[in-house]
Amino acid sequence: MSRYNGPVCRLCRRETAASKTGEKIKLFLKGDRCLTKKCAVERRGTAPGQKTTGKSRTKTSEYGRQLREKQKMRRYYGVHETQFANYFREAARVPGQTGRTFLQLLERRLDNVVYRLNLASSRAQARQLVTHRHFRVNGRPVNIPSYIVKPGDVISISERSTKSPVFEANLDVARNRRPPEWLEWNDQNNEGKVSQIPSREQIDTPVDIQLIVEYYSR
Ligand code: SF4
Repeated sequence: MSRYNGPVCRLCRRETAASKTGEKIKLFLKGDRCLTKKCAVERRGTAPGQKTTGKSRTKTSEYGRQLREKQKMRRYYGVHETQFANYFREAARVPGQTGRTFLQLLERRLDNVVYRLNLASSRAQARQLVTHRHFRVNGRPVNIPSYIVKPGDVISISERSTKSPVFEANLDVARNRRPPEWLEWNDQNNEGKVSQIPSREQIDTPVDIQLIVEYYSR
């Protein structure tokens, strides 16, 4: 399945309009703009193409809710359908809570870790920077956004990249914004470290993971 290339704010507006609780759903696909009043969900919570009300006219089935939640999480991490389903299969093979393992796998992707370390303004930018070989893991260049990091891994920026204007700006943010507890940032070396596998509580992804487990268990 191809990647969605349309206006990303439409995705947030659609999720918000579909939300049963009236909660504003932000997928954070546009970097720092998502934190400002320019955010489309802040300005209007209606579904794309709908001018007046965000209320859905049709009753959503249980399957519809599960599908919606799955799409939301997939877009949040920017992962293709096939790869997303593969993560679920991998998580289901591990004894324990499948939903938690599934989330942990997605969080441990290198592009997500780069984003969580504040070295990119969005996951899309993180994915592009990884692909362009700007990062090293344990000193070795890695250009695979889906690379799964493990505790103890050190993520650094390639020497030639630190002087680029993108990294000068991103490093400024990284120095001033704390990463989640399962990651460490070293200001001296401009390096991030994975200190542990994130617990469910340390993952702030706004999804009902149980609905997604049910979707794939049908
Ligand atoms: Fe979503 Fe960000 Fe656009 Fe807001 S600015 S609607 S959070 S992508």
